[in-house]
Amino acid sequence: MVKTETLEVPTKGHCDIVDITSEVQQAVAKSGLSNGTVTVFNVGSTAGITTIEYEPGLVNHDINAAFEKIAPQNGRYEHEETWHDDNGHAHVRATMLGPSLVVPFCKQQLTLGTWQQIVLVDFDTRRRTRKIICQMMGE
Ligand code: ZN
Repeated sequence: MVKTETLEVPTKGHCDIVDITSEVQQAVAKSGLSNGTVTVFNVGSTAGITTIEYEPGLVNHDINAAFEKIAPQNGRYEHEETWHDDNGHAHVRATMLGPSLVVPFCKQQLTLGTWQQIVLVDFDTRRRTRKIICQMMGE
């Protein structure tokens, strides 16, 4: 069986890292499915989904610092020439992180580690409300 839920998640942009673990866990519980997988998918091309140890060093500094080396905010991007906007780095970063994540669940519980949270990372340059699709497949 397949069940789909949509989350709406407000973000501050600028590499804002939002813990959505409890929302995803609630979607799994609500589905009524016992065992299967949940695909967590961000709609849009300037944010991504991954897992992280949700602690301040990583969340407030290290991840942004790493992406700043790979795709600096003040770099030059053809995308910005095309659209006359300021988020070329956000598109590049989101592409590298990827828009989705698949997590197995057993007995209605996500099989995450103790120090592993599901996060939405918003690289865009403004506040947004993100639409996140949680699609559960299982039995
Ligand atoms: Zn753009």
